[in-house]
Amino acid sequence: MAKTANPLKGYLRSPKLYITLPSGGKFSNIQSISDISAELPICALTSMDETILRNPDALLNGESLVKVIQSCTGIKDVYELTSNDVDVILLAIRYATYGNDLGIVAACPECSNVNDVTVNIEPILETVNELEDSYDVTLESGLQCFIKPYTFRDSQRAALAAFRETSELNNLINDNADDLAKLATFNKSFIAMAELNIEILSSAVIKVIIPATDEDEEQEVKNHKHILEWIKGINKSEADMIINELNTINDLGVTRETTVTCEKCAHEYETRLEFNPSTFFETGS
Ligand SMILES: [Zn+2]
Repeated sequence: MAKTANPLKGYLRSPKLYITLPSGGKFSNIQSISDISAELPICALTSMDETILRNPDALLNGESLVKVIQSCTGIKDVYELTSNDVDVILLAIRYATYGNDLGIVAACPECSNVNDVTVNIEPILETVNELEDSYDVTLESGLQCFIKPYTFRDSQRAALAAFRETSELNNLINDNADDLAKLATFNKSFIAMAELNIEILSSAVIKVIIPATDEDEEQEVKNHKHILEWIKGINKSEADMIINELNTINDLGVTRETTVTCEKCAHEYETRLEFNPSTFFETGS
């Protein structure tokens, strides 16, 4: 059945700006790569989007952020975006809705005066740089491990797990159970958290290359089950090498540091802009 064309269609909000995303379509499982490899239109929040973001649970509930990003960009498969792309999109939506100025607070490391700082968003969006085609670390064992930035799904899972752990800890402290029972509950939640972290870590590993030896040729492992089993069993220093590289990659694509001059002692210091919807949207109105 043909729908009647809405005569108001031409009066919907139009994009405020166009941005390029750090991933440029790399590392995504998104069906229509063209959605994110070209210039991406960014619309301002609708009043409905604003209401969704005002919900105190919106931060924890990835679904609300997904809805807002879908509404302002038209991207359908938001969970599959790299977290680098999502950071830039949220900043651009903030710009489209509330303008160039973003107020943050940053304590001075010299005199601990808390400075109110206004950050200009436009120059940050102009310095978005594209991610490399691939990232890898060579481990002590000689294995070459190829990794990709977190997807929005991964970063949401990690944030939710960290939140759950904190709230479970708080519940435990206030619980009347005896200490032994508390310890058992804590251990259980701690193990669940560790397992989830391993899972998230292994989903960031694309492939592992076993170097050639005198007897065997170089071998490439892409099987995800094999990779998960391997990650579970590697030593801590190797896991840390992968995690460090991942943390670096997850921060790429956009400048997160800004220079602040202290109003009280004139000390110059760097502060980090948190790419966090509560920073971007709570103070916006
Ligand atoms: Zn100071």
